[in-house]
Amino acid sequence: MVGAYAAILFVTVASGAVSQEARESFSNTAGLFPSLIASCMAWGASRNAELDMRVRQAWRWIALACLAEWFGDSAWFVIETILHQKPEASIADIGYLSYSPLLMIGLLTFPHAARSRFDRLKMGLDVAVVVCASAMSVWYFAVSADLIAQRAHLAAFLVTVSQPIGDVATLLGVTVLWLRRSGRMRDRVIIALALAVVSNVVSNVVYAHQVRSDSYASGGFIDVGWVLHRLLIVLAAFWQRAETANVSEQAASTKPSLIAILLPYAAIALAYSILLQEAFASSNTQLKVVVVSATVITVLVVLRQVAAVRENVRLSIVSEAIKSARRLEALVQNSLDVVSVIDVDTTIRYASPSLARLTGLSNEAVLGLKVIDGVHRDDRSAAILFFAALAKEGALNVRGEWRMRDSGKRWRLTENIGTNLTTDATVSGLVVNTRDITESRELENQLRHQAFHDSLTGIANRQLFTDRVEHAFMRSVRDRSTIAVLFVDLDNFKNINDSHGHSIGDDVLKAVAYRLGTCIRDGDTLARLGGDEFAVLLEDIGGAEDVDAAAQRMIEALRQPLINACASISLMASIGISGGADGETADELLRNADVAMYVAKSEGKARHVRYTPDMHARVLERLETEADLRRALEENQFVLKYQPIVTLKTGEMASVEALIRWEHPTRGQVQPLSFIPIAEETGLIIPIGRWVLREATRQAREWQLQSGRALRVGVNISTKHLHEPSLLDDIRDALTSSGLDPKYLLIEITESVLMTSTVEIIPVLNEIKRMGISIALDDFGTGYSSLSYLQQLPIDVLKIDKSFMDQLVDPQADPVLVRVIINLGATLKLRVVAEGIERFEQVEQLQRLGCDLGQGYYFDKPVPSSKILRYLRGSEVLNGVHAGERSLPLAA
Ligand code: C2E
Ligand code: MG
Ligand code: MG
Repeated sequence: MVGAYAAILFVTVASGAVSQEARESFSNTAGLFPSLIASCMAWGASRNAELDMRVRQAWRWIALACLAEWFGDSAWFVIETILHQKPEASIADIGYLSYSPLLMIGLLTFPHAARSRFDRLKMGLDVAVVVCASAMSVWYFAVSADLIAQRAHLAAFLVTVSQPIGDVATLLGVTVLWLRRSGRMRDRVIIALALAVVSNVVSNVVYAHQVRSDSYASGGFIDVGWVLHRLLIVLAAFWQRAETANVSEQAASTKPSLIAILLPYAAIALAYSILLQEAFASSNTQLKVVVVSATVITVLVVLRQVAAVRENVRLSIVSEAIKSARRLEALVQNSLDVVSVIDVDTTIRYASPSLARLTGLSNEAVLGLKVIDGVHRDDRSAAILFFAALAKEGALNVRGEWRMRDSGKRWRLTENIGTNLTTDATVSGLVVNTRDITESRELENQLRHQAFHDSLTGIANRQLFTDRVEHAFMRSVRDRSTIAVLFVDLDNFKNINDSHGHSIGDDVLKAVAYRLGTCIRDGDTLARLGGDEFAVLLEDIGGAEDVDAAAQRMIEALRQPLINACASISLMASIGISGGADGETADELLRNADVAMYVAKSEGKARHVRYTPDMHARVLERLETEADLRRALEENQFVLKYQPIVTLKTGEMASVEALIRWEHPTRGQVQPLSFIPIAEETGLIIPIGRWVLREATRQAREWQLQSGRALRVGVNISTKHLHEPSLLDDIRDALTSSGLDPKYLLIEITESVLMTSTVEIIPVLNEIKRMGISIALDDFGTGYSSLSYLQQLPIDVLKIDKSFMDQLVDPQADPVLVRVIINLGATLKLRVVAEGIERFEQVEQLQRLGCDLGQGYYFDKPVPSSKILRYLRGSEVLNGVHAGERSLPLAA
């Protein structure tokens, strides 16, 4: 709107189409609105909270100045346009005269960049020059002595004199503002303000000049200048209102602009032009000559000053360059890295002092030497490659590593980074930055070793092993070679830890690592996967036999007793093997070796087992059984069956053996051989055994009470339970709670128990014996190391394993082993039970051989307790007694 207003005014004035009177009244209203708008806008700018406090303060002053101007405009509109008067001084002048000082204060209030004292002095002088020159021209054009002389009226005089003083004041303000604010601070706001002040001053001066020469008429270009001045303030205020950046934050740039430099010279030129004009207007030739000469001299002085300034600038650039070169030199001299300048043929031309720290040689001593000669022989090719790459023009950041001897003649690893500056005239060589990285590389290697090796044994860890297997697997696929992975798990390592302590346990693990290491070749990998789990990767193997042989070697190596100060420990291990063909990926190979190891454990430990595809299902089933077993105990899913043991002479039931069955909710009845080994491994066999003891003794006592006949019951006790300190208590509890006489209890232990830990269990067996309980050695004949111990053992019964019964089928053949065992029993005064009798011929043979007792399907299978009760009561008779010709003959 303001712009449109100004445009109309300009067109009206320029075209000269309207009458003088219309133009006059139009021009009187012209300033009215713009000055009011300028005031409002300036006030608005001062309310912009984003701005610096001082900027806002400045705009407050400017708003006040514009308000004063508007007051002047309004008053003059009333006086000239409405009252048709043209007084020399009026109330309007109060507004106009207060405008300049207010504006000056405003302009001076703007913040400015921080400056040095020298800069402030220089700026002060520049301002003084500009203000003096402008004061001079204002005086020259706007005021003159005769004009003052003409004004008799004091107010008119004051107005006449004040106007130019005000102009000088605003010029002062804007010059200071311009010179103080440099670079980005001198934004469009400041430019608009400067132009506003200049256009106002120019209009004022021209006005005064025209008034003096009586050529002034209202509504001319002077009015356009005044309106323009107001519009520029409006524009500046508008921009300032929208400004978001805080001016004081930008106060950093101090570089003076060209306009700022030229401003004082422009002022001087203005002053001189007035001087020259006056001189030429005068008829005094002398004066003309003097003035022209003075002008020329001044120009020369200015030119000289310009030359001096340029020289100063050049000198300061040179001194800055020297300073930065010194700084660089100090950096190079004190740097820990060696900086050297080297010729393309590796001759050293310069080396920084830190070279002495690295090599023990002074930098003068190395000048002329060739780098390549000091490099470790094995690293020379790396160094040659480095310099070849660096010799290429423009080569940048070429890297190379090699060893060099230090002052103590030790080899140090160095990292070298080179830049080719052969084309740079100041260097013209290869610049190489050399750093000693021996320690850091050692640390790096150590950390890497730690990350990939087991800290206890020093052999590879799981991560490195997996990585090796992956690589070997890929290579084997490529060159059709064969690899194998062996998972080695120590058997019962937990016992070693528990009984000997962890420090011995650690020693054992170290010894295992060592012994396993002796069983493999150099290219193979041995790793500890954690705990007592080791793994071996065999590469380039000939065939499956080689792997089996290696596995067997490992088992043998571990079996050798480990002897230390306080113990002799013999180790067993279960090994799972998977070959290259047992998996599609390295991962599968590892998993399958693990599965095979698991199977090796479940098959009785101390063995190596090769992976077969059906193992997964078996392992899975095992895991399921394990989970189900735990539940079975809680949910009472176990029952006992009883199998009669018969006196072979009489055919009478002498005792029974309690045999456990698992009534599985989905699988039906599960036989003991499918779950007892798992129960043993998981330790669940202890609570199961406890339950069997209680149930069997309770049942025996119940039969006794129900039938009036006592019957001995045999209970199988697992090896694990035998080693458990609670066993004796468990037996006592069972007897106490059932009320069964101990002599009616028989504890069956398997012969295999004696193979490993005879010494430890003898006291336990003695204690059982002392309690009045009988002991049977079950499955006799399947083990092979027990014979020598038999005498020392407190046993009463030998149970010949059912596998021997086959020898008794052919009446012609001589059952040597059975006879030997029966005789052995007789010698040791033990009763002998033959297990697994299925046929009458076997009974006959056994009778002939003098065997006391028999047990087997021929008599009866394991049956429920109710059937045993019927046998006891005589309501049912055992097979054999009434089996016709095949029946067991009654005692003669
Ligand atoms: P075992 O103690 O030697 O028990 C004899 C096994 O031979 C029983 O197998 C029995 O059913 C079987 N048997 C008896 N007569 C014949 C026959 O004429 N022919 C054939 N082929 N087999 C016959 P079962 O009940 O399957 O038990 C197997 C093994 O499980 C037992 O061998 C014993 O070592 C163990 N076991 C059974 N019950 C328990 C228990 O409660 N606790 C513990 N720890 N082990 C038990
Ligand atoms: Mg048994
Ligand atoms: Mg048996």
